[in-house]
Amino acid sequence: MVVLKNLLKQTRTDLESKTLAPEIRQSIEEDFEKMEGYLGNRFERNHHRGVLIYSCSQKGLWLPLAFPVPLRSKLVVLPHPYTLPLTALLDQYPKYAVVLVSQERARIFEVYLGEITEHSEIYDEIPGKVHDPSSKEYKSMEEYGLAERRIERRGRRSDSPVGGGNSESGVYGLAERKIERHVGSHVRHHFKRIADITSTYFRDHHFDWLIVGGQEENRSGFEETLHHDLKERIIGRIKSDPKLSLPEVYEETLRLIQEVEWSQKDQLLKQIAEANQPYGLGVFGVGPTLHALGQGAVQTLVVQEGVDLAGARCPSCGHLNAGDPACPECGVPTDPVADLVEETIEQAISQSAQIAYVPRHPLLEQSGGMGALLRYQPEKIPTSPREPPNDRIESLRHAKSPFKLD
Ligand SMILES: [Zn+2]
Repeated sequence: MVVLKNLLKQTRTDLESKTLAPEIRQSIEEDFEKMEGYLGNRFERNHHRGVLIYSCSQKGLWLPLAFPVPLRSKLVVLPHPYTLPLTALLDQYPKYAVVLVSQERARIFEVYLGEITEHSEIYDEIPGKVHDPSSKEYKSMEEYGLAERRIERRGRRSDSPVGGGNSESGVYGLAERKIERHVGSHVRHHFKRIADITSTYFRDHHFDWLIVGGQEENRSGFEETLHHDLKERIIGRIKSDPKLSLPEVYEETLRLIQEVEWSQKDQLLKQIAEANQPYGLGVFGVGPTLHALGQGAVQTLVVQEGVDLAGARCPSCGHLNAGDPACPECGVPTDPVADLVEETIEQAISQSAQIAYVPRHPLLEQSGGMGALLRYQPEKIPTSPREPPNDRIESLRHAKSPFKLD
């Protein structure tokens, strides 16, 4: 609330000098009062860590959106909706689908913006039932004169010696094997059906990555029937099966996602470090990163979480820099920028660059909290005394990653 009060105070002061129609001024003031009232009284925080509010009293627009992830504090007055924070959110957080499989069930979840949602529950014909082709009905194992435990023992069958004398020989054993083959085909059919549903789900909802859960043999049975494109999206496997509760599934899924994301970010930083050399496509440090960004050369911008930097913008060419009084690109005196990180992220998004927020990592900490993987080599890389010498980066490149979860 202190942050909001300061933002309101600052914005009101800024607006005083603007030429605005009285009804617009009044609409804006109503928006401010509504926001203050909402965040002070009605907003239920729960597990939410960020809130985005769109408001235009004059047009009757009031849209508060709560997120389980933090957002940077900002108040913007524009004649159109300010969609950049939303774009940044969508860019930063991949969507995961989790498919849990057993031989008779499947469940599909979506994990997005740190929240898990169940999307479907699929039951199939088994357990304990097989299809009787003569009657076109499903009958229980007992109706076939077989106990279900025989089916349950299936997994251990291969342990018994080939042709080993046991009581399951003869007609009885033949019937059982026939039924087992039948159940086997039902299970394959079931896996195929889940694979088809997963494909449909992908088409309707789209997700970036797929996580498969269940017992190992069920996971691999399911994955065999999965479409090639979806197989390539599998980023990990969990043990959770469809019987588990939502919090249990979430806990295991989240642990896997955190491991995967940490390792992806660690890889990204190592890739930048490898390419951080003359004519390479990696840069570390605020100066070289902003220079590359100014030339539209950034493919992935890497920013250390929570890093706070002030800087400057050139009023002539628009280039951001770490706070030089004169623009390093064109020499024009610069204007100060209170939140350089946010300005940098906005510029990167406007160039369709990817944004990666990284927790504490030595490669980034030694570089002022900023780096980038480039699309192409910028024209020149300015040397700045603020940047660490290259040999320091070199020694860190091989340092043990803090993200490895053993
Ligand atoms: Zn300039």
